[in-house]
Amino acid sequence: MEKVNLCTKCINWDHRPEGNPGERMGYCLSRKRMVGPHYECEFYQLKTPERMAVMNRKLYGSTDDYGAEDMEF
Ligand code: SF4
Repeated sequence: MEKVNLCTKCINWDHRPEGNPGERMGYCLSRKRMVGPHYECEFYQLKTPERMAVMNRKLYGSTDDYGAEDMEF
């Protein structure tokens, strides 16, 4: 059976192409270091739109945190 690189499908994987890491390398938010392909991982979580939204809220906050509803454009 062919091994599947879990990292590229994982919510914890940040490829950071600007650092020119190569196709198969990326930063792992769980392990807090650059990682190569993992075919088994206890921290793996499938990247879904819902999980991405939660992750983005954790990283960047929601618009409510900035009082955007009070802003006038
Ligand atoms: S949590 Fe595991 S599968 Fe996910 S990016 Fe890190 S090393 Fe890869």
